[in-house]
Amino acid sequence: MQIALVGIGKIALDQHVPALAASPDWDLAATVSRNGRVPGVEAFSSIDEMLATRQEIGTVSLCLPPVPRLAAAQAVLRAGRHLMLEKPPGATLAEVHALRDMAAAQGVSLFATWHSRMAQAVAAAKAWLVGRTIHEGRITWREDVRKWHPGQDWIFEAGGMGVFDPGINALSILTEILPEPVHLTAAELDVPANRQAPIAARLSLTGGITADFDFRQQGPQTWDMEFLTDAGPIALRMGGNILEIDGVQAEGRNSIMGEYPALYHRMARLVRNGSSDVDLVPMVLVADAFALARRTTADPFEF
Ligand code: NAP
Repeated sequence: MQIALVGIGKIALDQHVPALAASPDWDLAATVSRNGRVPGVEAFSSIDEMLATRQEIGTVSLCLPPVPRLAAAQAVLRAGRHLMLEKPPGATLAEVHALRDMAAAQGVSLFATWHSRMAQAVAAAKAWLVGRTIHEGRITWREDVRKWHPGQDWIFEAGGMGVFDPGINALSILTEILPEPVHLTAAELDVPANRQAPIAARLSLTGGITADFDFRQQGPQTWDMEFLTDAGPIALRMGGNILEIDGVQAEGRNSIMGEYPALYHRMARLVRNGSSDVDLVPMVLVADAFALARRTTADPFEF
């Protein structure tokens, strides 16, 4: 099946292009980007022009940041094409509800992806937790924003979500593996004096679960989730790619490179089955954090 990729920036080049190149399901047939290109692939700078010119391309994958993504998403659905969204699926919940309704009305597939749910040990952790009681859980998601989001000022703009941009990956895993649903009870946000979105956040959720998100990490990232259960401790490390049971590695390997091939495999199945996958639960937790949070002004931040 032919697919177009929109927003040729960091994640498109790091993950989407290699995943599509190795996919038995997809042929990367066009790109849309003002500046980015993929060698050997026809490049457009306008999505409307690509949709009008390349009628045979049935699916479009959007890698734009969340705020400018809505107009492109609406254009794709209006043109009757299947649509795949990077995480977070939009800037607000309501706009993704609107996209979901539009996809249903057009009879096309919409996939709001959560790449971290495809990490290698997530399914095993979910299976292990079935029937078990979690006494407490601690999420530590700390990364160097200069390494993972170099120069991306949009991330600190209104709607950019700040540290929730990676933090929502942890919440997407949490809400996938827990046997019971959770909701937010308190939040603290540290917002740099010269920015609109938090550089760090601390969350409390029901079930004794806490989360510590921080963009000011120096050196290697920490993407860990640790739980104390009635059957002992369990941990997911490396963004859900390694499972430890009682301190011993039980599943997975230290690589994030399997997540996007799994996303594109799932998108192919959704298109072939004529179905959609739009789970907004991780985004509800983030929206509630912005609604409930106490805010502290942090030092100004420059890339
Ligand atoms: P990025 O490189 O800053 O942006 C991707 C591309 O979007 C840019 O190259 C740019 O392409 C276009 N773009 C940026 N701002 C725009 C604007 N205001 N209007 C129109 N187009 C704009 O960002 P990214 O890191 O790839 O992230 C994109 C999405 O992927 C985000 O939702 C992010 O959460 C998600 N993601 C990122 C990572 C990561 O590690 N960085 C990991 C997983 C998921 P042109 O200038 O060529 O048009």
